[in-house]
Amino acid sequence: MTSLRSLPSVDFLLQQGSGLIRTYGRPLTVRALRETLETVREEVRAGSEMPPIERILKLTETRLADWVRPSLEPVINATGVILHTNLGRAPLSKAAIQAMLTVSGGYSNLEFDLESGKRGSRLIHAEALLTQLTGSEAAVVVNNCASAVLLVLSALARGKRVVIARSQLVEIGGGFRVPDVMKQSGAKLVEVGTTNKVRLDDYEEALSGAPALFMRAHRSNFRITGFTEEPSLKQLAELAHQHGTILLDDLGSGTLLDVTRYGLAHEPTVQESLEAGADVVMFSGDKLLGGPQAGIILGRADLLAKIKKHPLARAVRADKTRLAALSATLLHYLKDEAEREIPIWQMMAEKPERLRARAQAWQAWLGFGEVVPSESAIGGGSLPGETLPTFVLSLSVKSPEKVLASLRKRTPPIIARTENNRVLLDPRTVLPEQEPLLLTALAEAARV
Ligand SMILES: *Cc1c(COP(=O)(O)O)cnc(C)c1O
Repeated sequence: MTSLRSLPSVDFLLQQGSGLIRTYGRPLTVRALRETLETVREEVRAGSEMPPIERILKLTETRLADWVRPSLEPVINATGVILHTNLGRAPLSKAAIQAMLTVSGGYSNLEFDLESGKRGSRLIHAEALLTQLTGSEAAVVVNNCASAVLLVLSALARGKRVVIARSQLVEIGGGFRVPDVMKQSGAKLVEVGTTNKVRLDDYEEALSGAPALFMRAHRSNFRITGFTEEPSLKQLAELAHQHGTILLDDLGSGTLLDVTRYGLAHEPTVQESLEAGADVVMFSGDKLLGGPQAGIILGRADLLAKIKKHPLARAVRADKTRLAALSATLLHYLKDEAEREIPIWQMMAEKPERLRARAQAWQAWLGFGEVVPSESAIGGGSLPGETLPTFVLSLSVKSPEKVLASLRKRTPPIIARTENNRVLLDPRTVLPEQEPLLLTALAEAARV
């Protein structure tokens, strides 16, 4: 048995491993060396040979590399789900990424009025673009749509009753439930109608009594079909205005483009909601807008002024990188180049023939797999149940779950899906620059 006395000291190893100190710093290197030596000691006690110094240093380096590896890292999305909430929703356009870089490496006029040299407002940066694009009187940008809903209700509905259809009391995912948010804001929920039907009369009746306002929430992740009825947004807005009250519209995904051009079901646009007479409209920045995580609030200037002044507005405010990326994204819409420049619209617009050609090129390069028709989903609480026709590379493997797990272990990790005991890879959501990495990984996964 090797004597534990021949175990090298931390000081000796530190001298040998000066490169590690340069890369990882002394305290972290010392900690890693101690932990490695501890493991080695146990192994030697259990009867193993004393490893050479180089081996101990190598083990230490592996440990250190593991410690500093960022927990949040890029992945390749081969699932075909365009707005995959668990994979970070919308990838940003080149211009949006550049805008974030430009504004974050130094100082900016975030809250500084260059004209007067005095304090300015961060809210103006995306506001002009948003009002131009949508015709809204004003705009407020916050952290995300959930905080937009909380802020709007807190500022406008506190102590009041909020009338909403029972069929719209949704849970979006991640525990965001419309009724819970209302409770948080100090508003009192008044449910009207039944699970499948709500009439204008139901809303009108709810207005008798204490002050009340109307709210509509988009059914983002489910559909009601069959025997259903619901007044239009326009009818709701008119009724609200006749009674001197207001209508709030939580659109969730909030698209600026009409998605029917991709053969999808109609998704109400932000412009339509405002035209129908909604007084305040809320939607996400990273769903069908294709921008950074953000919550966008549009509507009547007097109501938005109240929202801007509410203390919560400060708590949920948007940072400079978000405002920069959002403005760059909005600019694509203003210049009528959204479909060309914003990744989610590029993916949405990709023709099945093109996707088939990409999948076939993968197959040709790999020399295995089959190209078969399939469906890509929109995801991210947008257009539930709607899919786009696609072609996928289908791999027949012994254990699909094992292959998925091994693809997830790659750098960058690859996320795919299985169907009928096959591994499916959808080119629609794989960025062209990621293709070489994906193919190398698949070739290696097939060899084992
Ligand atoms: C997605 C969604 C939200 C939450 O949006 P985040 O930007 O994820 O906070 C709120 N309301 C509706 C209707 C949604 O679809």
